[in-house]
Amino acid sequence: MRYDIAIVGSGPGGLSAAINAKIRNKSLILFGNENLSNKLEKAPEINNYLGFNEISGEDLIEKFKEHINSMGIEISKHKITNIYAMGDYFALMSGENMFEAKTVILATGVQYGKAIKGEEEYLGRGVGYCATCDAPLYKEKTVAVIGYNSEAEEEANFLNELASKTYFIPMYKNEGLMRGNNLDEAIEVINERPIEIKGETLVNQVAFKNLEIDVDGVFVIKDSASPKTLVPGLETEGSHVKVDINMKTNIPGCFACGDCAGKPYSYIKAAGQGQIAAINAVSYIDQLKLKEKNNN
Ligand SMILES: Cc1cc2nc3c(=O)[nH]c(=O)nc-3n(C[C@H](O)[C@H](O)[C@H](O)COP(=O)(O)OP(=O)(O)OC[C@H]3O[C@@H](n4cnc5c(N)ncnc54)[C@H](O)[C@@H]3O)c2cc1C
Repeated sequence: MRYDIAIVGSGPGGLSAAINAKIRNKSLILFGNENLSNKLEKAPEINNYLGFNEISGEDLIEKFKEHINSMGIEISKHKITNIYAMGDYFALMSGENMFEAKTVILATGVQYGKAIKGEEEYLGRGVGYCATCDAPLYKEKTVAVIGYNSEAEEEANFLNELASKTYFIPMYKNEGLMRGNNLDEAIEVINERPIEIKGETLVNQVAFKNLEIDVDGVFVIKDSASPKTLVPGLETEGSHVKVDINMKTNIPGCFACGDCAGKPYSYIKAAGQGQIAAINAVSYIDQLKLKEKNNN
């Protein structure tokens, strides 16, 4: 099936894009997480979302879920690793799965903090962002998972079923993990910050201040990857996608909204931009249809 709109990200930007696309009767697929967004979940109190003063992030998640459920919008839990512009449609990859859509709305949020030295250099040469997609490549090999959120624990467990040795390097507060609640006991936890991912042609080491570990692969599991690595050819400004006032990127049919499209980082701005992106994706589809009609 080729969807009208594929939306990548289930924070306020992606959800708002989804409800606006649905209202305009377009077929859509929305990629994201069950908890919608870690950044929503973590907010203790929100005072700047119109109509919801002093609401907690968790309560706002419930409101958002009620809204999308009432409109029959589902979230596909596939992590999208690459998006290719194919001319009149986009191919979205998640491991061996491919999804097709006429337009794409990027609502991936941003990962706070810099990439680790070597992370971007070795991307695709031993460094990956989706363990469930690439795990079969590391059967009987040694892997390290650098996890920025607790979902990374699941990915490490999954990898460990195939790999001969798995290291887990948590980059977040992890009292639960320290108690050994979620992680497979066979996985070795290194509670130190990695300073460099090293290699030659391919990755072969992760370096810490006083330690180096030999590895065949490294998975960096974070909320969102750099948009440039996600969509080849996408124009960016620093870590943000370059957009115009209509949320259009330099690639026809590809739109962006929310934190990934620039500051300020805010729920209501993300939701507003999600609406603009969806409306413009809809008119792009209508123009495509008109062109097809005129050509026939
Ligand atoms: C602790 C904290 C408190 C905050 N408090 C406030 C506040 O009070 N008021 C305010 O306005 N803002 C606040 N913010 C900022 C706010 O969280 C962000 O501006 C907002 O969440 C941005 O929404 P978004 O839709 O752009 O992206 P996000 O909310 O970051 O959502 C992006 C989603 O897309 C998913 N995703 C990313 N890449 C992929 C992929 N390749 N495939 C599938 N899914 C993917 C991510 O996992 C994530 O679920 C706070 C942030 C934090 C961290």
